[in-house]
Amino acid sequence: MDELVALCKRRGFIYQSSEIYGGLQGLYDYGPLGVELKNNLKMTWWVSMVYERDDIEGLDASILTHSDVLKHSGHEDTFTDPLIDCKSCGLRFRSDQIPEQCKDEELTEPRDFNLMFKTNVGPIDDGSSFAYLRPETAQQIFINFKNIVDSTSQSLPFGIAQIGKAFRNEITPRNFIFRVREFEQMELEFFVKPGTDEEWHKKWVDSRLEWWINQGIPKNKIELQTIEGNELSHYSKSTIDIMYKFPHGLEELEGIANRTDFDLGSHSKNQNEFNITSKVIENKASNAKLAIQDLDSKEWVIPYVIEPSAGVDRGVLAVLNEAFNIEKLPDGKERTVLSFPRHLSPIKAAVVPLKKNNNDIVEKAKEIKNRLQKCQLGRVVIENTGNIGKSYRKHDEVGTPLCITVDFDTLDKGTVTVRDRDTMKQDVIDQSKIVDYFSNYFKQ
Ligand code: ATP
Repeated sequence: MDELVALCKRRGFIYQSSEIYGGLQGLYDYGPLGVELKNNLKMTWWVSMVYERDDIEGLDASILTHSDVLKHSGHEDTFTDPLIDCKSCGLRFRSDQIPEQCKDEELTEPRDFNLMFKTNVGPIDDGSSFAYLRPETAQQIFINFKNIVDSTSQSLPFGIAQIGKAFRNEITPRNFIFRVREFEQMELEFFVKPGTDEEWHKKWVDSRLEWWINQGIPKNKIELQTIEGNELSHYSKSTIDIMYKFPHGLEELEGIANRTDFDLGSHSKNQNEFNITSKVIENKASNAKLAIQDLDSKEWVIPYVIEPSAGVDRGVLAVLNEAFNIEKLPDGKERTVLSFPRHLSPIKAAVVPLKKNNNDIVEKAKEIKNRLQKCQLGRVVIENTGNIGKSYRKHDEVGTPLCITVDFDTLDKGTVTVRDRDTMKQDVIDQSKIVDYFSNYFKQ
């Protein structure tokens, strides 16, 4: 982990937030390469959820959330972690994360600590007009259910997908970007007919597992864990977590919950009109019935919900961890390489002029860069250090799959040298073919 954290900072993936003022715990900033990696992961999720299917719609809802939403979702009362004070060192810990050196007699009894951040809305700060920063993106999906049903032609089963920030005042943020106070989630709420929920739950677990494998996470580093008893969230009938062997241990990457009819039921008025099976929270504030007509029976039903909820930051950490390698080369030297799957690489290609100060070579390199950039496959850069070996090493270390060198032969014969990050093989090709070569490479 330490080596990875150092590389992330050195190469511009991830920085500690507010570092020049000593840092703010549990917050990180994504630098020039981190933002590309994160966007690529999010876009891959979005494409697989929204574009490649016809039964899922997208949403981008507000972060600031009406307190009634989080009251009726149960978060005001139950979104807590057990907090323990250590009387000797004065620090606070989550009860399952007490350091070994703390002795039992120095610890207080656990008490509930609500993880939601509150903020004041509007110009008056008297505590009466506050909103929450959402602790999960899901609630905005539920409260927009009727809007989306009314404005699209979806019928059951169908889903709503959203990617966005969530905030939790974690008692002990730690392990780099694994447990932070501000993070992003990729959440799908998939609405199904009651009775078909268990079958859909299984389907989504399989589908999400396959998706992570396609992001370069090997199957043997993943375990499925069934959450039981007291560990289940207040809304869940059953939850299966996708656990990944992070550098610090086996921990949750994504949770797939069967949230039943709890959320839509709790946010609805006239709850008695429906055959709601879960123990909903009584609602006198909502003005909507979050139900949909069953096309077969013509009855209005509150659907069940299957929710695959993945953390973007935990995904980025897992992808970085799998890609990170220190390889021994045949000549005895070592190289650090990030072997990302091609579609996730922050930089898709670096165009490297052989001579830093040769105008013709540099101009040619810029022209090639612009041609490749127009393919819209992701970021392409010029790497004009004048030192080919150093440029290759740098781009191995940031996971750029292709380096394209422009030299005197490019000017004389029209050829460029393409070097592959993984095989380190170099191909000389005609520059007229470079766009096709590049596009085909990322189609594979
Ligand atoms: P944990 O048990 O690790 O605290 P959780 O069960 O509370 O996680 P969920 O409420 O299921 O997490 O949230 C869905 C996903 O959001 C998680 O699988 C994780 O990837 C991500 N996530 C949750 N909390 C954090 C956090 N503090 N920092 C980064 N990602 C998080």
